[in-house]
Amino acid sequence: MTLDPATLYLVLTVVGLLMAFWVCFMAWGQPLGHALWAWALALLAYTASHVIFGLQALLPELVFLVGGSTAYAVSLVLMLQAVRRFQGVEQLSRWYMAPLLLVPLVCITLAQHSTLRVVISALIYVWQIGLIMASLLDRRQPQHGRGRYILVGAFATMLLMLLARALSAMFGLIDTHNLSASSASLGPVFLVSLCAVLSITLGFVYMTMERAERRNFELAMKDMLTGLANRRAIGDQLASTVARAQRQGQYLSVLMLDIDHFKRVNDSYGHQAGDVVLRSVAQALQSRLRAQDQIGRFGGEEFLAILPDTSLDGALVLAEALRVAVEATPTQWGAHRIATTISIGVRGGAITGSDTADSLVASADAALYRAKQGGRNRVEVGHALVLPSAFDLAPANASTLAPAHDMNSEA
Ligand code: GH3
Ligand code: MG
Ligand code: MG
Repeated sequence: MTLDPATLYLVLTVVGLLMAFWVCFMAWGQPLGHALWAWALALLAYTASHVIFGLQALLPELVFLVGGSTAYAVSLVLMLQAVRRFQGVEQLSRWYMAPLLLVPLVCITLAQHSTLRVVISALIYVWQIGLIMASLLDRRQPQHGRGRYILVGAFATMLLMLLARALSAMFGLIDTHNLSASSASLGPVFLVSLCAVLSITLGFVYMTMERAERRNFELAMKDMLTGLANRRAIGDQLASTVARAQRQGQYLSVLMLDIDHFKRVNDSYGHQAGDVVLRSVAQALQSRLRAQDQIGRFGGEEFLAILPDTSLDGALVLAEALRVAVEATPTQWGAHRIATTISIGVRGGAITGSDTADSLVASADAALYRAKQGGRNRVEVGHALVLPSAFDLAPANASTLAPAHDMNSEA
C-alpha cells in the first residue's frame, strides 16, 4: 500500500491542532503557569514539527532540517516541563534545555552527513523521552494516578519508534536524505506519531482530572486543620465498621476523646495557639493508634476513634495509652510549653444487632461526660459495661492536674 505523505502530514497537523485547541479550552481560566498550558504549547510545537517535515519539498533544506528537528526537541522539552509543573516543580534544570541547542547544532554541522545526523538526533530525542518517562515513573510522586500509564505507554512507543529509526538509518534501511518521501517506513512512523499525540493528550488530561477528583475527595472527607478524617468521613467509616462487625460477629470499640479545658488555651494564648495544640494532639493520637484503627475530628476539640476487632480490655489499654501520650506531649508555642490533657469515653466489646453507629457514639459520649465530671484527664467506660477490677482508670494525679497550663511558667 502506498501512502501519500502530504495526506498523512495533513491528518497529523489537523489532529495535533485539534488536541492543542481542546487542551487550551480545558486550561482556560487557569493561570499561565498551569501544566495544561505547557502541554498545549508542547502539542503546538509537536504539530509545527510535522508541518515543517511535511513541507520538505517547499522549504530550503537547512530551514526544513533545523526548523523541523528543533520544533520536535522543543515539544519534548515542553512536555517534560508540563509533567514537572504537574508535580509542583516550576523550573527545569538547564541540562534539560540542552537539546534546544544540541539539535540545531547537529542539524547544521551534519547537514551533509544525513545518516549520522538522523542517528544522533534520534538519540537526543530518546534521551528527552527517557527523562519524561523517568519523571512520570518517579515513586516519590504519588499524584499521577492511572493517567501516568497511558503516558508512559505512549512515550515508550515513541521511544521504540525512534530507536528503530536510528537503527534503520545505521543499516541503510531507510533513505536518510528524504525521510518524508513515500516509503514503506512512513506508514508505521505516521501511525505511531498519530497514536502518540492522541494517547499522550488523553493521558495528561486524565492525570489532571484524577488529581482534581482526589483533591475534591480530600476536601470533602478530610479535616483541613488536623489532616484527620472529618466528621462526615469518620461517621461513614463507623457505619461501615459497625455493619461489618455485626456480620462477622466481631468486637468493636469506640473512643470519644475531648481536650480538657481547651477554651483556656484559646483564652490564654490565642486562637492560633489553639489550632497548633489541636494539630499536635491529633498527631499524638494518630501516631499512638494501631494500623487498623481509624480516627477523625468529630467536633471542635473532640475526636472519635474506631477500634475494630477490639475487646473492652484492649480498648481500655489503648485509651489509657492515648491519654498518657497526650499528657506527655506538651505543645511548644513560642516561649511557652502548653500542657494538654484529654478525657476519654469508651464504648467497648461485643455489639448486638440493635447497635448502630449513633448508639455507640452516644454511649462513648455518655462515658466522656462522666470522665469530665470525674475530674478530667481520665478514661471512663460506657454505662452498660462493667469495669475490669484490675484496671485503674483514674490516674493518681487526676484531681490535682490543671490541664492546659503553661509548663514553663511553673518552672
Ligand atoms: P472541657 O474540659 O469541659 O471539654 O472544656 P473545654 O474548654 O475544652 O470545652 P468547651 O466545649 O467549653 O470549649 C471548646 C472550645 O474549643 C471552644 C472553641 O472556641 C474551641 N474550638 C473549637 N474548634 C476550634 C478550632 O478549630 N480552633 C481553635 N483554636 N479552637 C477551637
Ligand atoms: Mg474540651
Ligand atoms: Mg468539646
